[in-house]
Amino acid sequence: MEKRIRKVAVVGTGTLGTQIAILAAFFGYEVSAYDTDEGSFKRVLQNLKVSMKASRREPTVPTEEWENCASKVKFSKDLEEALQDVDLVIEAVSEDLELKRKVFERLDALAPRWALLATNSSSIPISKIEGATKRPEQCLNVHFYSPAMGLNMVDIMGGTRTKAETIEAGKAWVRSIGCVPLMVKREILGFCFNRVWRAIKRETLYMWAEGFVDFRDIDRAWMIFSGMPQGPFGLMDAVGLDVVYDIEMVYYRESRDSRDHPPEALKAMVDRKELGIKSNKGFYTYPNPEYSRPDFLTG
Ligand code: NAD
Repeated sequence: MEKRIRKVAVVGTGTLGTQIAILAAFFGYEVSAYDTDEGSFKRVLQNLKVSMKASRREPTVPTEEWENCASKVKFSKDLEEALQDVDLVIEAVSEDLELKRKVFERLDALAPRWALLATNSSSIPISKIEGATKRPEQCLNVHFYSPAMGLNMVDIMGGTRTKAETIEAGKAWVRSIGCVPLMVKREILGFCFNRVWRAIKRETLYMWAEGFVDFRDIDRAWMIFSGMPQGPFGLMDAVGLDVVYDIEMVYYRESRDSRDHPPEALKAMVDRKELGIKSNKGFYTYPNPEYSRPDFLTG
């Protein structure tokens, strides 16, 4: 029988965790949250307002509801308290395998035995984390795309021993918060849409870094072609250029193919703290990036 999820805990309330917590609260779940940095939730919420405005994407949770939903998320300074009576834990701590394994070990020790443990990792399959727990059959990848409040698709992927009912419960929960589950049938780095997006990032970063095309023209072309309000560089600014760099390095470390290595010019931007929207400067400057201007498409 499919498991009913009533209470959700979000562990790690950075860029993604904050959005997941708000989304779950909006759709009526009881939500608890825990982060080692107590101020992160409020900070992220502020940054999010800027990035959602820049993307012009209609958020799933209407902006005027954000504060209300945020006030429903119950923060705990103590992980054990945050995990009381939860049915589902979404881990969204920083992208670091050792850290995630340590966090999962604690989740396993402190969460009720029935709780499902999901990671929102962008690149780490649950098969590499599940061994830190005694409940691998209840572990899964539940991967949101950014902005989670505006992109309503979520990858679902099992590990080596994930039970079918865990997957079904994950899919049902994702649907219940207004998102479309994308089922990844066999383990693959990058899940479903990330791999498509990654191919675009790799190619466009190469064209820019090698000086073939100005990044604005690449964004213009993409916006005209797809009808989207941003191009790949605007999107990378929204994700965070440090995050983009780290993710590209994960693919490179797996393949060891030099064509998968992110360009040095991107690393230089990260070193200069040009991280995108969160630092007000990346490829574009914020809060009023060039691509938001009405005449951007005509060049
Ligand atoms: P982030 O750096 O914004 O947030 C990470 C949060 O984890 C921080 O607030 C940090 O204080 C907290 N943290 C660190 N150690 C902790 C611990 N031991 N216990 C509790 N909290 C802890 O990162 P993010 O961008 O939100 O990414 C989080 C996860 O979501 C990563 O696995 C990432 O791959 C994934 N993800 C990110 C994006 C994106 O676009 N940023 C998209 C999809 C998935």
